[in-house]
Amino acid sequence: MSHTPTVAIVGSGPIGSAYARVILQSDPDVRVVMFEAGPQLTAIPGESVRNIADPGEKARAREMSQGPQAGAFRESLGIPSSVVVEGMFTARQGTHLLDFGGEGSAHAPTFPAAAAATNVGGQGAHWTCAIPRPAFSEKVDFIDDAEWEDLVSTAEGLLHQQSAAFSDSPIGTAIRSLLNDEFGAELPAGYGVGTLPVAGDPQPDGSMVWAGANTVLGPLIEAGTPESARFELRDLTLVRRVETEDGHATGVTIEDLRTKELSFFPADAVVVAADAFRSPQLLWASGIRPRALGRYLTEHHVVITTVALDEQRMRPLVSDDEFEGELARRAQNAADPVAAVNRIPFSEPDHPFSLQVMYAENPPFALDPSHPAAGNRWGYVNMGYGVRKHPRVEDGVAFDDDELDYRGFPNMTIDYALTDAEQPELDEAHVRVRRAGEALGTFVAEPRLMPNGSSLHYMGTMRMGAADDGTSVADPWSHVWGFDNLLVGGNALIPTANTMNPTLMSVAIAVRGARRVVEELSSAPVGEAVR
Ligand code: FAD
Repeated sequence: MSHTPTVAIVGSGPIGSAYARVILQSDPDVRVVMFEAGPQLTAIPGESVRNIADPGEKARAREMSQGPQAGAFRESLGIPSSVVVEGMFTARQGTHLLDFGGEGSAHAPTFPAAAAATNVGGQGAHWTCAIPRPAFSEKVDFIDDAEWEDLVSTAEGLLHQQSAAFSDSPIGTAIRSLLNDEFGAELPAGYGVGTLPVAGDPQPDGSMVWAGANTVLGPLIEAGTPESARFELRDLTLVRRVETEDGHATGVTIEDLRTKELSFFPADAVVVAADAFRSPQLLWASGIRPRALGRYLTEHHVVITTVALDEQRMRPLVSDDEFEGELARRAQNAADPVAAVNRIPFSEPDHPFSLQVMYAENPPFALDPSHPAAGNRWGYVNMGYGVRKHPRVEDGVAFDDDELDYRGFPNMTIDYALTDAEQPELDEAHVRVRRAGEALGTFVAEPRLMPNGSSLHYMGTMRMGAADDGTSVADPWSHVWGFDNLLVGGNALIPTANTMNPTLMSVAIAVRGARRVVEELSSAPVGEAVR
């Protein structure tokens, strides 16, 4: 009997989905089975919950994603109760803190806002969809420019990149004009104020259908396509171990969270894309422990503020008709408060920051009705300067075989510190965000540095490297060093200091890994697909 090569993918976020899509579309003989610990939230698997119009449905989908902090849904996720501790951080909706304060919680006092999402689509069901390209030193230096261009454009295609979303919003245009007056002269050509590239599909009414894992999966989840016949997504299925023999993955041990049954699933290649903390944790639990595993943790730090747009400044740039049109457009899309997205990208040497400027109907917090800027008809901008963190071996997550977490995995302790290497750029970000705010209006929240972990963009914990020298976990094609058919994916692979939202870069890296798996599967002798 002929053998159908099978790839097991752990995690159904954008990265696992990119692997599935590229592998299935490149090789007509392969089957892909994707395992996801969390529940499916929407009829279309992996769709962004931001697209759900009904507020009750949206809240329910977010709640279901919150793993150990998922209230009534906790039991369906096979997770014991957690204790809500006074003073604890609250995670962004749809996510759950790693250090949630209950039994089996991770320990992360120096990285307290670290969070994850446990659902089909992963964090990609909750994300903001900003997908700028990495630039200058943010890129990986051992992938040449021509190949990188191809990888990143392929990733943009998978994510339905839009480079000019909301560009017809007159208020969005006015925001760009005011920021350009303030900063334009200091910025190099090609890296000035512009629209923020996002993932999604613009609609005729000016709104966006935001991209999620479903966008990346594409034909894999459309009935009747050849790819869909070879793709299977199993939700509420926790991968407990990657099984290996002499540098070769043989499959995964899975737990069906509905029945608690454990079984072995054989595979010809295994891809672990279970986020930047839980992927290294799974490798550790499987006895795969390269020296750099969990180390070199970075994120981009964010200095944020919220500003009420100033009528005096906007009026000369926005006509009455345009303003009325804008109000009508915003009212039409009450379910989605984002109405324009702008930015100043990273450039070296003089602008080592990413500024993200989101124009929205309301501030992201309840503003006291007595505040002079409450109910501002011109709306608000939430903006943040992304500041890079330089990788250090000291920053990272460690796993304890003697203390299990709420899922029964070796528990995590995160150690992390900002150092003198970051301080000057953090200080400069405060200065610049104040300038940006003053150019646009009145502060309704003072500029401040968000607590460590707030970016939700965790990088470096399974970094890729050009050589197996103990400072990386994966080779340039995302194989774990020393393994021929075990690959890792996600932001954790990014080895550089970054200020940008990392998902596009991670999808591009995944495309490279997926193409390599396809080559390896097709060149393997029949019956022994990769080896
Ligand atoms: P994830 O999306 O985290 O998916 C991993 C999946 O693996 C999860 O569903 C998890 O349940 C599953 N899993 C974990 N362990 C196991 C196991 N043992 N067995 C089975 N399954 C397992 N990024 C950007 O680039 N731009 C943005 O604008 C942006 N905004 C964001 C806003 C918010 C509110 C959030 C939450 C995130 C944002 N991000 C953004 C981050 C972005 O969502 C992530 O970079 C992206 O989702 C990472 O994809 P992934 O597939 O690697 O991991």
